[in-house]
Amino acid sequence: MEKVNIAIIGAGIVGLAVASYLSKKNNNVLLIERHESFGRETSSRNSEVIHASIYYPQNFLKGRLCLKGNEMMYDICQINNIPHSNTGKLIVAVNEDEEAMLPELLELAKNNCAKEVRIVSGDEIKKLEPNVHATAAVYCPSSGVVDSHSLMKYFETAAKESGVDFAYGVEVKSIDKNKDGYIVGVRDADGRDYEFSTRVLINSAGLESGNIAQLAGIDIDEAGYRINYHKGIYFRIMHGFERFPRMLIYPVPPESGSVGIHTCPDLAGGMRIGPHFFWSDEIDYTVDETHLDLFFQTAKQYLPFLKIEDLQPDMAGIMSAIQKPGEDMKDFVIRHEVDKGLPGLINLIGIESPGLTSAPAIGEMVEGMVRELV
Ligand SMILES: Cc1cc2nc3c(=O)[nH]c(=O)nc-3n(C[C@H](O)[C@H](O)[C@H](O)COP(=O)(O)OP(=O)(O)OC[C@H]3O[C@@H](n4cnc5c(N)ncnc54)[C@H](O)[C@@H]3O)c2cc1C
Repeated sequence: MEKVNIAIIGAGIVGLAVASYLSKKNNNVLLIERHESFGRETSSRNSEVIHASIYYPQNFLKGRLCLKGNEMMYDICQINNIPHSNTGKLIVAVNEDEEAMLPELLELAKNNCAKEVRIVSGDEIKKLEPNVHATAAVYCPSSGVVDSHSLMKYFETAAKESGVDFAYGVEVKSIDKNKDGYIVGVRDADGRDYEFSTRVLINSAGLESGNIAQLAGIDIDEAGYRINYHKGIYFRIMHGFERFPRMLIYPVPPESGSVGIHTCPDLAGGMRIGPHFFWSDEIDYTVDETHLDLFFQTAKQYLPFLKIEDLQPDMAGIMSAIQKPGEDMKDFVIRHEVDKGLPGLINLIGIESPGLTSAPAIGEMVEGMVRELV
């Protein structure tokens, strides 16, 4: 049976970042991905925003890793020519009631140590973004946008160059603990089954991370690891390119756990708005046109030039949430499961937003956890 030191499950942005950081100090690392290439799931279906770390309860890993990831991201992108833009972001109030909510948002952002955040007036907004309507806003200069595909390609290449083996088209089907680590059963694209053994097993399987933890023998309901699908849909603005704001424009958050339908400028000059989130029982990426009016009414409040005929359904992505519908936001789970009798198993579960921004910091953190194990 083939033996590896470290196996990573999942080639989304998180698994790739983990592979890249681990590869600097470890040999014999294998990454297993069920699709034919990286980033075929959530990591290619998101807003591509480099978050500033604003919305998280104090002491959440989400806030800490987002802040660190934000800094690391700009460095990685600059050094390696990864397309990105430090656009800045405005969280806009469009009336007095919303203006009254800005000081609390500013406080939250400051508690999360978001850099240089401040409240700006309607007049300042006119100068910054003349086509945006707002009476005041929280301004976050460190927000931006990254080309997530190029970022994933960078981590994949870095990991490969440092010796990580990639097994694409291979799905993990079983996990059994033995005295040295884990026996992992996999099935390849031709339906052949194999087993290999690994000392350390890292579960970064996104929407499947709860099921992988269950394969390893964890009671996922007791542990709070069952994944709930939180589906976010986007519409694209097809016309009016000359009026598109350069900065990210977010509304005051409408509900717990959502940052609201915001602008998502892509680096090619296009513009999506979204996501609008709802709970789903299945992995289904269709975008239902019946949401058109909600998108139009929401975005028109801060983009007054928008016409309903400018909007077309675009795409959807699904967050791997560990909170249930109606529950408060939960933190990332990044955990060595030694106390569950599973030494060498590191679970990454509930890596919803800001998972893209946090990925480099998660990679560094997991590398530190593995250093204590091998
Ligand atoms: C609508 C939306 C908007 C978002 N916007 C942002 C944003 O603007 N900024 C931000 O920072 N974050 C954002 N996020 C969050 C971010 O996209 C995720 O946190 C991140 O992509 C998670 O990456 P991942 O690698 O954990 O998961 P994934 O990308 O889902 O990767 C997991 C991989 O594991 C593989 N896998 C699963 N099971 C198995 C198995 N049994 N065997 C082998 N392989 C397996 C899958 O095929 C997949 O490739 C958003 C998310 C959504 C849904």
